[in-house]
Amino acid sequence: MPPKKRVFQRKRSCRFCSDKEMSIDYKDPKTLRNFVTERGKIIPRRIYGTCATHQRQLCEAIKRARQIALLPYSGSTQR
Ligand SMILES: [Zn+2]
Repeated sequence: MPPKKRVFQRKRSCRFCSDKEMSIDYKDPKTLRNFVTERGKIIPRRIYGTCATHQRQLCEAIKRARQIALLPYSGSTQR
């Protein structure tokens, strides 16, 4: 599906945009854990209202955190 250009700003706004002190850091699993499920899946941005920019950064941070075993991989075998 092609992305539509209409961008609705819903009531829920991006946490990272509204709170500038909140940073996306792969070395900070406490923050990242708020954005993944117990199984380590990334929670879709519709639920939290994270903007595309920050969602991407979040995604990168979570991936990096997984690589250094700060977060579990989703669906993969647990160690
Ligand atoms: Zn944002």
